[in-house]
Amino acid sequence: MIDTHCHLNTEPLWSERDHWKHTLDDLDAVIVVGFDRLSSERAMVLAQQHANVYAAIGFHPDSALEWNDAEASWLISATQMPKVVAIGEIGLDLYRRHDTLEAQWNALRAQQAIARDAGLPVIYHCRPTAESNDAYDLLTPQLVSEASDVRAVVHCFGGSPENAVALWDAGFYTGFDGPLTYKKSTLLREIAKACPDTRMLVETDAPYLSPEPFRGKFPNLPECVRQVATKLAEVRSMSVDDCIEQVDANARALFTGIVR
Ligand SMILES: [Zn+2]
Repeated sequence: MIDTHCHLNTEPLWSERDHWKHTLDDLDAVIVVGFDRLSSERAMVLAQQHANVYAAIGFHPDSALEWNDAEASWLISATQMPKVVAIGEIGLDLYRRHDTLEAQWNALRAQQAIARDAGLPVIYHCRPTAESNDAYDLLTPQLVSEASDVRAVVHCFGGSPENAVALWDAGFYTGFDGPLTYKKSTLLREIAKACPDTRMLVETDAPYLSPEPFRGKFPNLPECVRQVATKLAEVRSMSVDDCIEQVDANARALFTGIVR
């Protein structure tokens, strides 16, 4: 089974990686996702150390003010490194900052172009202002109109059903994680039920977002991707084995750099 999105490159998992590494043994592949220069470099280090670990590299919207020509040059060269399977996570985050929106768009578009040139898929992060759908209503039309030629997932999906349908129609994948298992996530489960078989992925976002029955436990771990897949199977009235087979096939179709 594959965890398509986690952060073994952040605390406490990075400092305690020797303590946690045995928990990766039962997974076929784990994608460690960068959010700035340091975390991207750490993802590449982990990919070199572990046969089943792969790296995604990029600048998260929270790091948009760090994006500049030097970082762009570094990112372009790093796309050539072995086991780099995606650009990400990149996107828009209006939950933490509205004031950097222009810088967020700039970093987003520049990294889309780098992914296109490198032939790599993209992992998008999108987080709206609380009680709003603003970031999804901005990002969705941009992806559909400007970037549907770049294969991609919108990870930890939290947009509207209309956003989801527009993204699926344009060929984008949807990433589901811990929130799918939370009691209040009725709308998200409806979206997961409606998702085309070939457009769904599962992930943990570890150390964050522990799924039920471990909600609130920190850190979350990649192995808990099974709980997410189990809930996805339940929502879609399919067997857990069939669900895992489908999401793993989808992960390999999107992240073609996964060879294990
Ligand atoms: Zn993440």
